[in-house]
Amino acid sequence: MRTFFLIKPGEIELKLGNRREFVHRLKEQIQKRLHGIHFDLEEYPGRFFLSVEEKDTDFALFVLQHCPGVNGIAQAIKSEKRTERILKAAIEIASKEAARGARRFKVETRRSDKSFPLDSYGMSAAAGDAVTQALSSLSVDVHNPDFIIAIEIRERAYIYASTSPGPRGLPVGSQGKGVLLLSGGIDSPVAGYMMARRGLAIESVYFHTYPFTSEEAQKKVEQLARRIAIWTGSMHAWIVSFTEVQLKIKKGGREEANTLMLRMAMMKAADVIASRIKARAIVTGESLGQVASQTAENLRLSQSMTSLPVLRPLIGIDKEETIATARRIGTYTISILPYEDCCVLFSPKHPVLKPDFEDLRAYFSSLELESEILKAVDKAEEKFFSFGDALREYGLDAYAEFWNAGGPRA
Ligand code: ATP
Ligand code: MG
Repeated sequence: MRTFFLIKPGEIELKLGNRREFVHRLKEQIQKRLHGIHFDLEEYPGRFFLSVEEKDTDFALFVLQHCPGVNGIAQAIKSEKRTERILKAAIEIASKEAARGARRFKVETRRSDKSFPLDSYGMSAAAGDAVTQALSSLSVDVHNPDFIIAIEIRERAYIYASTSPGPRGLPVGSQGKGVLLLSGGIDSPVAGYMMARRGLAIESVYFHTYPFTSEEAQKKVEQLARRIAIWTGSMHAWIVSFTEVQLKIKKGGREEANTLMLRMAMMKAADVIASRIKARAIVTGESLGQVASQTAENLRLSQSMTSLPVLRPLIGIDKEETIATARRIGTYTISILPYEDCCVLFSPKHPVLKPDFEDLRAYFSSLELESEILKAVDKAEEKFFSFGDALREYGLDAYAEFWNAGGPRA
């Protein structure tokens, strides 16, 4: 037995050229993520169709629900374009819903094949009649249905009831690549997820201050990177030691400016990494006014270290909303583990409140951090987390093994 999925890609309002790119990327992403199982993926205008072995049904659904660019997923019956076949499928679908306690339904038909003898209205009416005759517990209610039977008449006919939502957005990679400043906090993993959903492929950078920060703090960030990889498809993580940079900042002696200097140094390092990996944007979890270092003036200071756009998807988002998203995407419980952040280490008791842009820029230059920053980037440890590693992170160990081994067993 095989399970058949109808997949609705998102952003169909895109212009034609972009849409072609979108479809190509999305197909690539789905194929890549499913490569631990046997599957067939077909592409038609406005729809993908996936068939998998029945035992892999839940897995395939899980993967699709985490794949940006997917709007909705439905388990469907594929049928010939013959009215009696379609009606039989509608009854089969409806009987499953009835068994779950549903009582009222309506039928929605989309007919792109205009040569089909019944029009949309006629098909819906015929299916409504057939279902109520076959299943006496069900009745048609177009205003307040418990479920909808969807019929699509295209190259074939497809009949399905419930649709599970996908992440929507754009397929990963369709907007190029960005460098995510990934700390162990709540915000940056959410920021990475949000930009991945806008089509950005993500590589992350983490700055640690070992031995002042612990190995656990780094392990936590690595775990976050694996979690985000369920959305991004995989994750390169650059682990950069900023101990020397931080010590040099501390030696500068203007304690109140330490946090800002560190922010600027991080941005500079991110800019260097971005140019090496050909990324076209930098992503942070900053939100306006959340902490002293996240005022507009201070964002200007860190922004001045790069000519790339610094994307801050959380800039206008309330912390409660960010927490809700973090919970939903599965990063929250990791983010709140109590390992210290490198920034806490040298953070001033009285941070700069009214920064003077020119003055702080000059102070940054006087610290002569450039070579220290370059050294740190050169010595960065590069880690790669595959989609299989992400699957393991979500407890799908058997699938993770197949994925990492290069595909399913024969
Ligand atoms: P988060 O919850 O993401 O840590 P935050 O609200 O704690 O954010 P800050 O600690 O001021 O805010 O950090 C602001 C942003 O700077 C973070 O969202 C992240 O993008 C980046 N950042 C902070 N610390 C680090 C770090 N050690 N390594 C990499 N990026 C960092
Ligand atoms: Mg933080």
